[in-house]
Amino acid sequence: MSDTVDSVIVAIDGPSGTGKSSTSKAVAAKLGLSYLDTGAQYRAITWWMITNGIDVDDAAAVADASGKPVIVSGTDPSHPTITVDGVDASGPIRTQEVTSKVSAVSAVPEVRTRITGLQRSIAAAAPHGIVVEGRDIGTTVLPDADLKIFLTASPEARAARRAGELKGADVSATREALVRRDAADSTRKTSPLAKADDAVEVDTTELTLQQVVECVVTLVEERRAAAQ
Ligand code: C5P
Repeated sequence: MSDTVDSVIVAIDGPSGTGKSSTSKAVAAKLGLSYLDTGAQYRAITWWMITNGIDVDDAAAVADASGKPVIVSGTDPSHPTITVDGVDASGPIRTQEVTSKVSAVSAVPEVRTRITGLQRSIAAAAPHGIVVEGRDIGTTVLPDADLKIFLTASPEARAARRAGELKGADVSATREALVRRDAADSTRKTSPLAKADDAVEVDTTELTLQQVVECVVTLVEERRAAAQ
């Protein structure tokens, strides 16, 4: 376990649409932990590249610019925030354009080194521990996390959830875009989307959000009890 009895680091990984964000925020709020959405950081750096005229398919140009944007994440699970160079980026990072370009930017090793460093310092500074959600948290960013969860769900369930969030989006087009993004994220060379060997896999296809949250909270409490 981490420094104090109460402090705990939870890594929640998995593909898009498995309920990572909703689960992570709810678990953090319930347990009084901080919360970090690492996908938002990759989206933020992608948004900066687009607005600064960098061709996201030019890996060398992306690598050169990767140190420039100042990305700050607020880690309150009831009000997570993200700014880029002091500007609120929470809206712009959710656009279709950013979603379609984020996998290319996040595959660039220099981008991953930069963002991984930010993630580790945020986790180390969290006073009571943190829930960190992403694709490579259990494998690469925080390999010593106290608890690692890998969320999965059928592509149909994932597409239906995402289309619901995007209000009125076409489910089959959403499914195709999700599958394409997951394939890119899973096959990149540096730190791909992967389940850590010691992660607990939870298939959320048939579960409500509340059931998933209860499952993760119970696992955290078991780890805490075992560590005392
Ligand atoms: O979680 P979200 O869908 O917002 O993530 C956006 C993208 O950020 C992912 O498709 C992936 O390319 C990238 N990402 C990553 N590593 C993480 C989190 C997200 O490469 N830990």
